[in-house]
Parts: sequence; structure tokens; C-alpha cells
Amino acid sequence: MMGQCDFTMRHYREILESALEMGYQFSTFADHESVTAPRQFLMRHDIDLSIDNCLAFARVEHELGIASTYFVRVHARLYNPFEFHTYRKLREFERLGHELALHYEAGYAAAVGEDEAQMVRREKTILEAILDHPVVSAAAHLPGKSGKLITEANATSFGLRYEAYTARFMEGFKYLSDSNGRWREGCVCGHLGKHERLCVLTHGWWWFDISPVENY
Ligand SMILES: [Zn+2]
Ligand SMILES: [Zn+2]
Repeated sequence: MMGQCDFTMRHYREILESALEMGYQFSTFADHESVTAPRQFLMRHDIDLSIDNCLAFARVEHELGIASTYFVRVHARLYNPFEFHTYRKLREFERLGHELALHYEAGYAAAVGEDEAQMVRREKTILEAILDHPVVSAAAHLPGKSGKLITEANATSFGLRYEAYTARFMEGFKYLSDSNGRWREGCVCGHLGKHERLCVLTHGWWWFDISPVENY
């Protein structure tokens, strides 16, 4: 039985368990084309501010046999992928079977008067250098400010297979996001069974065990 809808890790686990019971097959973005079940669930997480609260998702998902995709910023103010503790955690995401992808920010280029496409290429190269393997998926940070950059053709020209805001995902899947700490169309649990393909974005910042104070 599903408990109350909130942003606790308890409810996060309930959502995943109930999706599994209803036959959804989870996959990373990189692997989503190999999913054979009619019900498909793409879970993505943007690591905007902190690695730690995203690692909580990664561990719960792993316990349930679920792989998801984590989008990493290479220019974040509050974490640095090269820094030892962060790097070790990034490796943990991969050990748990998850995909690490690029969370690029075209606005960074705009703010310093540089070319946006070149900035995406550079960020991809940096993340690949850190991880020492190719990065195939990416998602824009603040996609509303990167609109003209987000096309399949651009993604291909950047050497990416998938961009999370292209039509393949935004139209091919029912898209839900916890942006601003609220599900605009209601909690994910209420959508299970109503759509065959779900693509859900969460940000670790909004989620906690007992109280949001854990994230400040
Ligand atoms: Zn719910
Ligand atoms: Zn973001």
C-alpha cells in the first residue's frame, strides 16, 4: 500500500517498487533502446548542487535492481568532479550500474561571451577525461535557456547519442519533473499505469529521509 506523497526517500522507494510491480522496465538513457517491455521507465537525476543526496537515490535504485542516469556538471560551484571524495562517489554510481552523463550549461558560454556549441563540446571532453570513457547522453541545465541548442542534430554533432530534452524523450515519453520541489502534474505514483513510457527527472536537493534540513 502506497503511503503519503512527499519527497521522502521512503516514498521514492515506494514509487520504484510499485513501478516494478506494474511491469515497468527501468533503463539508463544509454541502454533505453534495448528495453523490450511495453512499459518503460527512464529515471534521470540532475546533480545540480550535491553528489551526496543523489547517491542516496543510486543506492536505493541499486537495491531494487534499477539502473538510472545521473547528469554531472563539470563547472558546478559546490562540487568538483576531480576532487577526491567526489570522484570516488562518481565511481560508486558506475559500480552500482548507473550511467553518468553530461549536465551542460549553455548559459555559461553566453555569460562569458563564448560559443555555446563549443562549450558543450568542451564540457563533454572534460567529463570523458575524468571518467576515462565516452559519454553518450546529456541534458541541458535550465533547458528553457538553451532552447535553440537542443536538437538531435546538435547532439549528434557534439558526439552525443541522446539529449534528454529532444522530442525522442519529451514526446516519446510522459515527462514529469520535481522542479521547484513540486510535481506540477501530481506525484509520479499517480501516473503509474496511465502511461506506458515514463521519463522522470528528480533533483537530490528536494529529497530527504526525515526533514529537508538534511540538505542545507
Ligand atoms: Zn506519490
Ligand atoms: Zn540542472
